[in-house]
Amino acid sequence: MRVYAKYIYPLGGAAPIRNGYVDYDPADGTILGFGGGESIPEDATVLDGAVTPGFVNAHCHVELSYMKSLFKRGTGMAGFIDQINALRDTAPLQEKLSDIQEQMDSMWRSGVSAMADISNCEDSFAIKAASPMYTRTFLEVFGTEPEDCAGVMASARELCRKAAACGLDAAPTPHACYTMSPELLKASSEDAIRAGFLSYHSEETPEEEEMISSGSGRLWNNRKAAGMSTPPVTGGSSLDYFLDTIGPVKDANVLLVHEVCMTAEGAARAQEMIPNVFVALCPRSNIYIHNALPPVEMLRRSGIRLALGTDSLSSNDSLDMVSEMLCLQENFEGLSLGEILSWSCEGGADFLGKGDILGSIAPGKRPGLVLIDHLDASGRLTTASSSYRIV
Ligand SMILES: [Zn+2]
Repeated sequence: MRVYAKYIYPLGGAAPIRNGYVDYDPADGTILGFGGGESIPEDATVLDGAVTPGFVNAHCHVELSYMKSLFKRGTGMAGFIDQINALRDTAPLQEKLSDIQEQMDSMWRSGVSAMADISNCEDSFAIKAASPMYTRTFLEVFGTEPEDCAGVMASARELCRKAAACGLDAAPTPHACYTMSPELLKASSEDAIRAGFLSYHSEETPEEEEMISSGSGRLWNNRKAAGMSTPPVTGGSSLDYFLDTIGPVKDANVLLVHEVCMTAEGAARAQEMIPNVFVALCPRSNIYIHNALPPVEMLRRSGIRLALGTDSLSSNDSLDMVSEMLCLQENFEGLSLGEILSWSCEGGADFLGKGDILGSIAPGKRPGLVLIDHLDASGRLTTASSSYRIV
């Protein structure tokens, strides 16, 4: 089967093709080849838009889909945590399951071929296992009191057995510096590293940095007011605290999610200590919670691998990858669609260890094929752009 389009973005080091085609096996979507230029016959139907590999949503919490439209915007991290604590478990299970199903179906239809998904419970397991989308499930743990560490890890490992019984790839993973004792951060990171994949919310907000560097700020006060133990005050960044706690990581892929406050020194140190480190950008979630964006220009210069995620419907209006891409294009001048797509497809696929099948259009791979429509005259995204799965 052959599909023609105005633009083809094979990625994987191949340049975008104007007026090109992709050949694939309709039985299982295996790519057979691609090309362009003179080989397009006059009578061919040429799709008006860009054909790309399936997207990889590098950060989602699909189990929180029932929280859509419940959260106030711009509350900062301390306000966000208060809201999530008040609203967690306020919906009946049946409603949660139907919201998860709806979002999984809509992500698949819009071209998401794989996802790095956070779970705190088993609500989403059966639905993810039945979906044609590949998901790796990160069983996120919290616990500010050191004496709770063993119990929290035992529950996470039990949840891991349930995920495995459903056929999911899953392992415990740490949440963030402000919700965990150093003991739990270390123990959950060890489980994640053993499994080969760690995902961690890092430097999401200045409140997190204030907490670790100087023991002050709204997040610090919020935790203190709740009577919780707080992480050590180090005088350094929260990323340094994470790196110093887990030490060098040679044999696992590590995803730092958000990194709104990352510095060039931090990016360099992370790459030095963790050769397979990635940063997941979730720009619309960052705007939703604290009206900030990650330092994309610095991240590009640093050479750190980038991926793109939607985060959850507690901090976003939709789980739509094209909206995240448009947000980057609108806020960072000079980003090409090809570069944004490489983060949206290849970055996440490589983090998940699926770069041999997903993330780029190349013979033998099965990345899925997606059409992004309503591009402008120069081939850039517009507010009308949307995506749908061709294969
Ligand atoms: Zn998150």
